[in-house]
Amino acid sequence: MVREHAEIFLSPDKGRGLRCKKNGPPIKAGTLIIEEDPYCFTLLEGQEQERCHYCLEEQSPEAPLKTCPKCSTAKYCDEDCQKAAYKEHLSECDGYRRLMQLPFHLRLLGRILYRQSTREYEQGALGPMCDLCPHTEALKNSAELRIQLQKLLLFINKDILPDRLQLESLYGKSSCNCFAIHDLDLKDIGVGLYPQAAMINHSCKSNCVSTFRGTKLQIRALVDIQPGEEICYSYTEKGNVTRERQDVLSKYFFDCQCPYCLDDDREAVMKSVKCPSCQAQVKPNKNDRYEKCSSCGFSDFTAEFYEDLKDYVQYADDVMHKPRVWATGVECDLIFRENCLVELDKILHPDNIHVVRILVGAFAAAVKLQEWTKAIEYGKRLDRAYELYLPPNEPDTGLLYYKMGKAYYHLGDSENALINLRKAKKLLCVAYGRDSQLVDYVEDWLEFCEE
Ligand SMILES: [Zn+2]
Ligand SMILES: [Zn+2]
Ligand SMILES: [Zn+2]
Ligand SMILES: [Zn+2]
Repeated sequence: MVREHAEIFLSPDKGRGLRCKKNGPPIKAGTLIIEEDPYCFTLLEGQEQERCHYCLEEQSPEAPLKTCPKCSTAKYCDEDCQKAAYKEHLSECDGYRRLMQLPFHLRLLGRILYRQSTREYEQGALGPMCDLCPHTEALKNSAELRIQLQKLLLFINKDILPDRLQLESLYGKSSCNCFAIHDLDLKDIGVGLYPQAAMINHSCKSNCVSTFRGTKLQIRALVDIQPGEEICYSYTEKGNVTRERQDVLSKYFFDCQCPYCLDDDREAVMKSVKCPSCQAQVKPNKNDRYEKCSSCGFSDFTAEFYEDLKDYVQYADDVMHKPRVWATGVECDLIFRENCLVELDKILHPDNIHVVRILVGAFAAAVKLQEWTKAIEYGKRLDRAYELYLPPNEPDTGLLYYKMGKAYYHLGDSENALINLRKAKKLLCVAYGRDSQLVDYVEDWLEFCEE
């Protein structure tokens, strides 16, 4: 539920939103603003074999998940989870096997339909989903809507379907208002519909953040929010360039005018290259052209330079996204990223967003492989990038310090381990809450290091 510090208001250009109470005290960083159970949720593709379909806990090698004997698809930690899920699962069990063959956003819609088929009052004007924006006008007659609903109809029991208008409205509501559910390490594992949290409007420069305890969503303030100030949440990757963010946001049918979207310099830093003559940072103009190095005056950015730049960016994108059938696994990923970094460092400035993206994965792979020296090298570079591109107290930054602390500990450098773990604790307390399991883990590590 929305807590006492916040209130709903009508903003002239964005419709309904949430803000810090006009006549109240400021909301301090780390304050829990909303805590909410999902109206409905589902696991992402690929997670359904690994995680409990009720509490999302990962299966442990000692205790394999138990499968629902009727649909042989739903899986649960134990009898407790199965019992707790029973009320929801009863209506869908028959069609669950087919439902789970769909992509996640249609799974979610399907689960909502099964649920509403047995609880008609939830479809009405007072139901939990009634206030969500369906974007019916914008979606109407779109090819996307037609294709998706056709797909859904092939995989769902026809007798539970509402009329077409209602179905279109539910499609709009569920696809535009859902939250990604992630684990403690911020890995996406599911999606859920949280009607109260869905009132929060978007800003790429958000002042709050979502974390999860199982399926329970918690929204905390990342920074102090002043009375009357709007509470905003980012629907997109903050580390994307404006065009990429706007592409994602077009799905929600609005045009973001936040400080990041209007900040041309931030954008230029993300696209900055090294001066071919003196290696200093050169930022492009608004048309993505590099004119002159402000350090040495170099200005001969030839057609060949732009060709090379295009190739390097393409190379980075391929390393990130191209499926590799012949070389999979974390080891290969690390090698690919390392080689790519060596190349990118020849022409792109270290702050360039393509470099940062390769670094994020290289750091994660190095930690996974326990290559601690490499982890620290990449971690230090990421630290600078996060400071440049992320709002203060972001959980990503806290997790970075946590992993850096562990890396230093393994290398026998307890002084630096302590510095990083203390920074991690401070940040993670803000984003996840003091009573979070993650903060407990950090405290355990702090104890190891202090011994
Ligand atoms: Zn469970
Ligand atoms: Zn079942
Ligand atoms: Zn924005
Ligand atoms: Zn120069």
